[in-house]
Amino acid sequence: MKVLKFGGTSVGSAERIKSVAELVSDGERKIVVLSAMSGTTNSLEEVTRNLYKKDNEGANKVIDELEKRYLDTVEHLFSSGEYNTKGKGVVSTYMEYLRSFTVDMFTVYEEKAILAQGELLTTALFYYYMQEQRKSSVLLPALDYMRINSKNEPDTRYIENNLKSLLEKYNTEKVLITQGYICRNAFGEIDNLQRGGSDYSASLIGAAIKADEIQIWTDIDGMHNNDPRVVEDTQSISELSFDEAAELAYFGAKILHPTSVLPAKLANIPVRLLNTLEPDASGTLISSKQEKNRITAVAAKDNITAIKIKSGRMLLAHGFLRKVFEIFESYKTPIDMITTSEVGVSVTIDDDTYLDEIVTDLNKYGTVHVDEDQVIICVVGDLVAENKGYAHKILEAVKHVPLRMISYGGSNYNVSLLINAKDKESALKALSDKLF
Ligand code: ADP
Ligand code: ASP
Ligand code: MG
Repeated sequence: MKVLKFGGTSVGSAERIKSVAELVSDGERKIVVLSAMSGTTNSLEEVTRNLYKKDNEGANKVIDELEKRYLDTVEHLFSSGEYNTKGKGVVSTYMEYLRSFTVDMFTVYEEKAILAQGELLTTALFYYYMQEQRKSSVLLPALDYMRINSKNEPDTRYIENNLKSLLEKYNTEKVLITQGYICRNAFGEIDNLQRGGSDYSASLIGAAIKADEIQIWTDIDGMHNNDPRVVEDTQSISELSFDEAAELAYFGAKILHPTSVLPAKLANIPVRLLNTLEPDASGTLISSKQEKNRITAVAAKDNITAIKIKSGRMLLAHGFLRKVFEIFESYKTPIDMITTSEVGVSVTIDDDTYLDEIVTDLNKYGTVHVDEDQVIICVVGDLVAENKGYAHKILEAVKHVPLRMISYGGSNYNVSLLINAKDKESALKALSDKLF
C-alpha cells in the first residue's frame, strides 16, 4: 500500500482537485493525504492574529474572502445541483464555525482548532467530489489517529494502533482520504505538526502502516540541485539518499518538510517526490542508496543569527563548551552550525526568540558578538574525506563572497557556509555555475 500526499498547490483549485481525483483512481489501495488549498493556512493564521488583537472586523474580512474563494471552488468543482448544494453546505458550516470566534470568546486553545479548518475543508470537498464521480472512497479523520505527546513528538505507537484498526475497518476501500498537518496533542486538544507539516503526516503514516512507498506530490518535478526560486536552470535530481534529503530539507529545500525524512528513513520506506502538473515525470526517489562521487545539490536557510563568544581565558578548557551549550539548552534554542578556535566559538541559531537572554547569560564567559541577517548555504553530496578536492571546488566557487563560518566533517554529506543574506543569490548562482 502506498501513501500519496498532495500539497497546497496540488489541491489549490477545482481543476487541481479534479486531477488529484483522477490520479488516485487507478484501482490500487492507498492513503491520500491532503493539505489545505494553497494560501488557506496563511489566511487562517491571519484570522487568529486579528482575533488575538480583538480586531473582529479584520477577522471577519479574511473569513469573507476565504468563503468567496471556497464557494467559487465549489461552483467549478461539482457538476450536479445535488453536490453543488452539499459543497456549499460544507463551506458554510466551516465558515460559521470560524465566525463564531468573532462573537464568542477566543482563547489560545482555539487557535489550533482554527488552523485545522483548511485541511478539514479540502478533505470534505474532495470526498464529495469522489462521491459525485462515483469513485468509492472513505474519510480517515486524522484527529482519530494522529497524535503528539507532551514533548511534541509523534506518539508512534498510538498512531500505529489507531491507523491499524481504521484500515481493518475499511479493509476493502481503495482510496482512504485523510488530512495532513493536523493532529491531537497529549491533552486531546486539536494541534498540528507545524507549518508545512503535511509531508511529516505522510511520512508518519507511511512508517506506521509500513507502506511500500511514500509519494509527495507537489508543483515541481522533484528535488532540484539548487533553489529554483533563486537560481534559473536548476535540474531535478533522480536519486537522493535519506541523509542527503534530510540535510537539504533542514537547510532550506522547501519541497520537503525538515522532519519528514526521519520516519521514512527509520522504517526504510522509499520516498518519491512527484509533480502533479507533470504526473509522468520521474521526479526524485529518496532511499537508503547513496550515490558515490558527486556533489548533489545546494540549499540555503534564511534568517540565521550568528553568535561569537570570545574569551581571553583558556576558552576551550574542559567543560567550557558544555556551559555554552547549556545556555542554549535552557532556552530550548537549537544550534545549527558551530565552529571553534582556541580563543572563540561561533554558533548559529534560527530561532532568536530568546536571543537577548542568551547573550546576557553568555556574557559571563567572554565578549559576545551577534551578527543577524545571515544565511547558511548547505552543499550536499558524497563528501567523505577520501573525495579529495570537493571542498576546494566549493570554496573556489564562492571565492568572491565573504565567508563568516565554514563547517565540514560534521557528516559525510554536507559542507555548510555562513554568509551575509545580501550575498545569498550570488553565492547560490556561483555554486550552480561551478558545481553542476
Ligand atoms: P506543497 O504546497 O506541495 O507542500 P511547497 O511549496 O511546500 O509545496 O514545496 C514546493 C516548492 O519548494 C517548489 O515550488 C519550489 O519552489 C520550492 N523549492 C525550494 N527548494 C527546492 C528544491 N531544491 N527543489 C525543488 N523545489 C524546491
Ligand atoms: N496547510 C499547512 C501549511 O500551509 C500544512 C501543509 O501545507 O503542509 O502549513
Ligand atoms: Mg510543503
